[in-house]
Amino acid sequence: MANDVQRLRERLATVVNLDHAAAVLGWDQQTYMPPGGARARGEQLATLTRLSHEIFTDQETAHLIDLAEQEVRSLPPESVDAALTRVARRDYDKATRVPASLVAELSRHAVEAHAVWVQARETADFPMFVPSLQRSVELSRELAEALGYEDQPYDALLDQFEPGMKTAQVRDIFTTLRPHLIELVQAVASSPVKMDAGILHQEFDEGKQEHVGRLIATRYGYDFTRGRQDRTVHPFETSFSRDDVRITTRFDKDFLGSSLFSTLHESGHAMYEQGVGEDLEGTPLAQGASLGVHESQSRLWENIVGRSRPFWEYFYPTLQETFPERLGQVPMETFYRAVNIVQPSFIRTEADEVTYNLHIMLRFEMELGMLDGSIPAVDANRVWDDLMDQYLGIRPPNDRLGILQDVHWSGGMLGYFSTYALGNILSAQFYAGALRAHPSIPDEIRQGEFATLRHWLSEHVYRYGRMDEPNTLIERATGSPLTIEPYLQYLRTKFGELYRL
Ligand code: ZN
Repeated sequence: MANDVQRLRERLATVVNLDHAAAVLGWDQQTYMPPGGARARGEQLATLTRLSHEIFTDQETAHLIDLAEQEVRSLPPESVDAALTRVARRDYDKATRVPASLVAELSRHAVEAHAVWVQARETADFPMFVPSLQRSVELSRELAEALGYEDQPYDALLDQFEPGMKTAQVRDIFTTLRPHLIELVQAVASSPVKMDAGILHQEFDEGKQEHVGRLIATRYGYDFTRGRQDRTVHPFETSFSRDDVRITTRFDKDFLGSSLFSTLHESGHAMYEQGVGEDLEGTPLAQGASLGVHESQSRLWENIVGRSRPFWEYFYPTLQETFPERLGQVPMETFYRAVNIVQPSFIRTEADEVTYNLHIMLRFEMELGMLDGSIPAVDANRVWDDLMDQYLGIRPPNDRLGILQDVHWSGGMLGYFSTYALGNILSAQFYAGALRAHPSIPDEIRQGEFATLRHWLSEHVYRYGRMDEPNTLIERATGSPLTIEPYLQYLRTKFGELYRL
């Protein structure tokens, strides 16, 4: 039969539609739903998730994948049908390998441990959290065994977020990069140049913050006729199709940096989703290749573009006109420095471009150690503090500013953190690729023009959606495998100039 792939496509469309309907409910839950709606919403989401899982893991899906695999044998591997079949097989294997009992146990544990984590964090009481952390690690081990792996259990956890990426590859990248970052942090610390971010911490009208954020996002190319922006406590991006991609923002009236850079960040995620090829619409391929590749797109627009001098040469006058009492008398250079200050700090989410990845490397080391048993849960806070000292030269005064700061480990989400650092590293590699093809990009940014850069990303990253594994995508787009060189060069050039290193 010549239309087996078509039948598979139709079945997967049902799954995709259920998942997107659940995503709409999830978006509403975090934006406009009154608190009273929580219980019913939980039931509705559980129903949709269960239906989607049942249809996807049914024998019929397996049968259709088998047939489609026969059919696509004659097709080139880079065709959409071949990619769809490949990804369906991968997703199916993952979804059916983990026993229902373990899935249920994981979600039950996540709910319970989250409540414990909230309380432990509030009171900086790590011992209270130890049994939950221990259970998270045990369940992660079980999950890794169920998913299967070639070299080591961590591979299976990482593969959930970065398909095809191996622990050994990530370890190599981190081990090579780490001493350079530590050296850079130390050089900045002993630089005579001192910078001050005080001007960002004043009162800025929230309506005006929203206006200027949207202005920049629109200029970037985030299409608001196929998107929208709302307010939440934690900013995020979510999409229900390539033509309905939404972002949310948190506004802090006493800190301009929060809404401004999170809007640029989420817009980067959103443009990726809006740029997925039309031919992938309605299939599981119509989303980002991996969390790391997704993060590379948000970081590129937030940091490499949005914290660059050419960018502010263009936008700073607009910002001054928007906030004349706050910034009217502040020179651009002062502002540029304020948004690029480097300072070791305890909290990952507030870290600057130079120190951020060291926070991630610490978590990566700890996850590996907890998983192989060399770091017992009961000692984890001490190991955390030692690594902070080793990497950043500071020791958290309590566990709230240390190991208890992130939500991830309470939910059993080991393997996730690395994707943030991979995203940073990759953002520079993609940007360097675009720059090689179009050396005029910085000049265009200085004119407030972003189309050349966006089109390059569209051509080489966005349109492929989830057709390829990250390693394949990276190599085709940039001509080389994942490498730290462009990232290191970017940091050294930018911060070397800023801190006169
Ligand atoms: Zn992000």
